[in-house]
Amino acid sequence: MRILFFSAKPYDKQFFNKANEEYGHQIEYLETHLGPHIVQAVDGQEAVCVFVNDKVNAGVIGVLADRGVKIIALRCAGFNNVDLEAARKAGIRVCRVPEYSPEAVAEHTIAMILTLVRKTHKAYNRVREQNFSLNGLIGMNLHQKTVGIIGTGKIGKAFARIMTGFGCRVIAYDPYPDPQFDTVTYLPLDALLAESDIISLHCPLTDDTRHIINKQTLSAMKKGVTLINTSRGALVNTADVIQALKRHHIAFLGIDVYEQEEQLFFKDLSESIIEDDTIQRLMSFPNVLVTAHQAFFTQEALHEIATVTLDSVTALNAGNEPENRGVMLV
Ligand code: NAD
Repeated sequence: MRILFFSAKPYDKQFFNKANEEYGHQIEYLETHLGPHIVQAVDGQEAVCVFVNDKVNAGVIGVLADRGVKIIALRCAGFNNVDLEAARKAGIRVCRVPEYSPEAVAEHTIAMILTLVRKTHKAYNRVREQNFSLNGLIGMNLHQKTVGIIGTGKIGKAFARIMTGFGCRVIAYDPYPDPQFDTVTYLPLDALLAESDIISLHCPLTDDTRHIINKQTLSAMKKGVTLINTSRGALVNTADVIQALKRHHIAFLGIDVYEQEEQLFFKDLSESIIEDDTIQRLMSFPNVLVTAHQAFFTQEALHEIATVTLDSVTALNAGNEPENRGVMLV
C-alpha cells in the first residue's frame, strides 16, 4: 500500500522504515504539515499518516477522498485535529495509536515537576559556570503534597501511580471516574482546584475542556500552585495563565503543549525571529518550563507507534479490522 506521511521528521523515518521491514508498504515522507495548502500533493496514495499538528478538517478530507485516500492513520493518541464526522461521511477510515506508552508521558510530567520544584535547570547552568552557590535554589518536597489530576485515563492513571510513590496525596477529577481505580480520591473539579499543591492536566481537548484552565479556575487554585500541562495546549487560556504568573498566584508552570504550537514546535527556529509574543513572554518567566511536545518521545513509544500504525493500516488494507479495536475512530 502507498502511504504518504505528513510532518515527517528524521526519527519518524528511522522508526517507520525499521517497522516497515515487516510490512513492505511503499512509504513516502513529506516534512510539511497536512493542510489545505498541501493536500493536493496526495497523488495515488491510499493512506495518509498524520501527527498532532496536521489540520485534517472537512475541506482537507473532501480532497483526500476525491484523490482516493481510504485511510487516515494518526500516529498519535489525540485526535482533536481531525473532523471525524467529515471522515465518516467521506467513507474514510481513521485509526490512531491510543496507547503507545502512557508511562512515557507520565514520566515526562514528573521530569517537569521535579525540574521546576528542585530548580535543576538552573543548577545545571550555574555549575557549568563554576558557580557552586545555593542562593536562590531552595526547592519544595513532593512528599505529603496534594496532587490533583484532571483526567484519569491511561496517562493520568500512570501519573497517579508514580505520585503515590513520592508519598503524595493524589486526588482526581474526571466526569467518568473509574470506580476500580482506588489510587486516587475522586473529587468535584472545584474541590480539586482548591486543595491541590500541584495540578496536572491529562484530559483530552474537547469542546468541554477547551480553556478549562481560565481566569475563574485559576483563581480557585491555591496561591503557589504548580500547574503542568502535557495534554493539549488549548486546555489552557494562556493569557489568563500569564496574568496568574504575574500575580505570583502560580509558583511554577510546566507546559509540553501550547495552543499555538503548530507555528513553533518540532522546528529548529534558532536563527529565526519568533513572532509569537505570548510564548516569548511565557519563556521569559524564571519559573516556567517549556518543552516542545516531547512527553511521548522515548525509544519505546516510537517503536510502539510505528508498529501499531503499520499493523492497523495493513489490516484495513486487507479488509480486516485491526486486532485492537481501540485504534479505530471511524
Ligand atoms: P484517555 O482517553 O485514556 O483518558 C482521558 C481521560 O480524560 C478519560 O478518563 C476521560 O474520562 C477524561 N476526561 C474527559 N473529559 C474530561 C473533562 N472534561 N475533565 C476531566 N477529565 C476528562 O487518554 P490518555 O491516553 O490518558 O491521554 C490524555 C491526553 O494526553 C490525550 O488526549 C492527549 O491530548 C495527551 N497526550 C499528550 C502527549 C504528549 O506527548 N504531550 C502524548 C500522548 C497524549
